[in-house]
Amino acid sequence: MQLDGQYTKSIYIDGSWVDADNGNQEDVFNPANLNKIKSFSYGNGIDARKAVKSAKKAFPDWANLSARERSTYLYAAYTLMMEKQEELARILTTEQGKPLAEARGEIASAASYLQWYAEEGNRTYGEIIPSSNKGKRLFVVPQPIGVVAAITPWNFPSSMIARKLGPALAAGCTVVLKPAEQTPLSAIALVKIFEEVGLPKGVLNLVTGDPVSIGQEFMSNEDVRLITFTGSTEVGKLLMRGSADTVKKLSLELGGHAPILIFEDSDLEQAVKMTIMSKFRNCGQTCICANRIYVQRSIQEAFTSKLTEQIDALKIGAGLDEQVNIGPLIDENALLKVKDQYEDAISKGAVTATGGRVHKGQLDGYFFEPTVLTNVSNQMKVMNEETFGPLLPIQSFETEEEVIALANHDRYGLAAYLFTENLNRALRVMEKLEYGIVGINDVFPAVAEAPFGGIKQSGLGKEGGREGIMEYLEMKYVSMGIK
Ligand code: ADP
Repeated sequence: MQLDGQYTKSIYIDGSWVDADNGNQEDVFNPANLNKIKSFSYGNGIDARKAVKSAKKAFPDWANLSARERSTYLYAAYTLMMEKQEELARILTTEQGKPLAEARGEIASAASYLQWYAEEGNRTYGEIIPSSNKGKRLFVVPQPIGVVAAITPWNFPSSMIARKLGPALAAGCTVVLKPAEQTPLSAIALVKIFEEVGLPKGVLNLVTGDPVSIGQEFMSNEDVRLITFTGSTEVGKLLMRGSADTVKKLSLELGGHAPILIFEDSDLEQAVKMTIMSKFRNCGQTCICANRIYVQRSIQEAFTSKLTEQIDALKIGAGLDEQVNIGPLIDENALLKVKDQYEDAISKGAVTATGGRVHKGQLDGYFFEPTVLTNVSNQMKVMNEETFGPLLPIQSFETEEEVIALANHDRYGLAAYLFTENLNRALRVMEKLEYGIVGINDVFPAVAEAPFGGIKQSGLGKEGGREGIMEYLEMKYVSMGIK
């Protein structure tokens, strides 16, 4: 794809690239320098309705293919994605801001979901139930749920899409995708890959544009059987409420507020390194990023000084520069939120161990210094609200019981991490953490083969793994009388 400032048709319905019905366009910007990259079609509910119609029309034939036949398309898309990894990574970094190395990793991760579900699609087994009645045979037959509407965020503009498309298409569903307005180009590039491998018309449709109007159409349209969403808890709740009238199934990956628990018997070097990777990857803009650190008192000083030393060595700048470790935030709102949480913490007594300023580099983008706060208390916003930025508060604790109570958030339950070399402690603490995902001496849990998902207000359902494809299947129960 040419990133040349020109307009690109970005609505893909029934195998054709079209303008928005109302002719509207919007621009996409590079968050590192605020330059316009390109403009794209800015559709609304009318375009979404057409796309749902196209997905509905394509559904019976797609569902009727054998799983093996469907998997060949997914496997071809996986292969093509990996061939185009560099090109796709550059598009991603240009519109989203993350360092190129991370973007390359994201493309490989996105492709891995297509590869894994190309395989797993062949294993959606049903069941035969031993009947209590000799004159009956009982079966469970998995069948694709139907048309799926997928709404995805800007923080992982490629992998959050692939994580939904892989299992949905493998299961036999057809899809209407609505990506985030900040990052449409990665979505367009991904849909073009499926077009290039010859995916039948209407199986995958793309609608870029006004989230409220498109979302409204998804919720009210009876032909949409499942909404799969990754984004904020607020919008997730709105989608739940709005889907009640048509009793849709929902699969929701929402916000988080991940704690990292660092015990005195941890490998300190590893804990420091992984804390930095967890917190500052994607400039702190991942839903499983560490949001707060709890360090056992006896090692707090040693941990904090090692941490700040390594953070001060990180290079901030435009992601296309290979030397850069931390890119910009996505937009002005993201920058203001980090600033607000920082100022709130300082006004309530926090101390800045490093960072704390809007970064004044040579670029005009949305940069904030990687920042560490100590002397934090539970009343501060940063300890309660999702930050989505490079701000890291450290609090100390004395006992295991105390830190478990601190770690268990009242609202969120996505991911939590702990560092210890003590196996008994690792198991004890893991079992008591009220989170859908626990990393023990590990901060990178998201892989295609494992079930990723939150509890409480962090979401419903799983993405990845055997469980991930079940979201897209209905279990038809068959009771058969025999003579
Ligand atoms: P963030 O605050 O991180 O941008 P959002 O939840 O607002 O998270 O965005 C995630 C996705 O949800 C994006 O694709 C966005 O366009 C979409 N979205 C935002 N508001 C709505 C809405 N009212 N209805 C449907 N989708 C929405």
